[in-house]
Amino acid sequence: MNIAVLPGDGIGPEIVAEAVKVLKDLQLPLSMETAPVGGAAYDIAGHPLPPATLDLAKSADAILFGAVGDWKYDTLARELRPEQAILGLRKHLALFANFRPAICYQELTAASSLKPEIVGGLDILIVRELNGDIYFGSPKGIRNAPDGLFAGAREGFDTMRYSEPEIERIAHVAFEAARKRHRKVCSVDKSNVLETSQLWREVMTRVAKEYSDVELSHMYVDNAAMQLVKAPKSFDVIVTGNLFGDILSDEAAMLTGSIGMLPSASLDKNNKGLYEPSHGSAPDIAGKGIANPLATILSAAMMLRFSLNLPKDAQRIETAVQKVLVQGLRTADIYTEGTQKISTAQMGDAVVKALG
Ligand code: NAD
Repeated sequence: MNIAVLPGDGIGPEIVAEAVKVLKDLQLPLSMETAPVGGAAYDIAGHPLPPATLDLAKSADAILFGAVGDWKYDTLARELRPEQAILGLRKHLALFANFRPAICYQELTAASSLKPEIVGGLDILIVRELNGDIYFGSPKGIRNAPDGLFAGAREGFDTMRYSEPEIERIAHVAFEAARKRHRKVCSVDKSNVLETSQLWREVMTRVAKEYSDVELSHMYVDNAAMQLVKAPKSFDVIVTGNLFGDILSDEAAMLTGSIGMLPSASLDKNNKGLYEPSHGSAPDIAGKGIANPLATILSAAMMLRFSLNLPKDAQRIETAVQKVLVQGLRTADIYTEGTQKISTAQMGDAVVKALG
């Protein structure tokens, strides 16, 4: 099995190195090839997603991705900015289903800004559609308003759109995921206001009939934002569109206290995927050896489960991470009094040791 390893910028190379260390220790038949992406690729090849990197990603069975971006690239033209590499990979590889688990380990409840009884043991999954919605709908642009109270003034406009097949395929992904969990799907929309959401709700309800063993509920996005901080444990799987998912998945991430703990996966229709931590390249701490590699290590576990069909090895990594937390080992971002502060590399070593 071939893995494309794309470390990227900032803390990317440091945290990916630890995930690779863990994967190597499992002694699986994996071949891993590394290529530059993001700002690192722009510096070498003049583009954030050079053809050689894209070819490697296309030919691989899965992609392990660090993070991209640095403020020093902010003045580049939009199409050359590091973040375009992620959009390019999503587009070229047709990655349409984003999995963002939000898990709050009992040992880390103190890191959350919410009360321990609200977040302790939290384990929810947000399934976000990644290819459609207002981010990609056309027409969009900035023009002079053709009518209305402010006719003639400059206005920005975007188009929210979802087709039935797009909603259907993400619905199937969410229901299948729920079958491996607690068999509950909450579909989040804004169908009291948006036509797009009305169709979304109609299609979700129709697809649910094929999954009579899974319970479907619907919730407006504003209520979902409230329930996520009031009673997050009432959810199992949340399925939603690109815009709402973008916002709710970050909200859910922060419930757990540290963004350094959360993995993510973006899958195509054959379960080939790109696996990356939920956080960015953290240029403020890059090169200091203090970044938390656990989100990337847990992303590697997701890769073994979803793309490489190695659930037992995925579980081994997840159990090892849990053990390390129980041992009281912490990187700076999750450190609390009474625990032991360790570096990025020491955390990788501790996970390897805990694999047993
Ligand atoms: P960020 O997630 O990089 O950092 C936010 C804060 O969290 C920072 O204080 C950072 O030090 C901390 N942090 C993040 N990951 C951490 C880790 N593993 N361990 C310890 N602390 C960690 O978000 P930002 O500062 O808004 O963005 C920085 C750059 O990352 C920007 O260029 C942005 O465009 C890019 N970005 C990339 C991705 C991606 O590659 N998928 C996602 C988001 C942001």
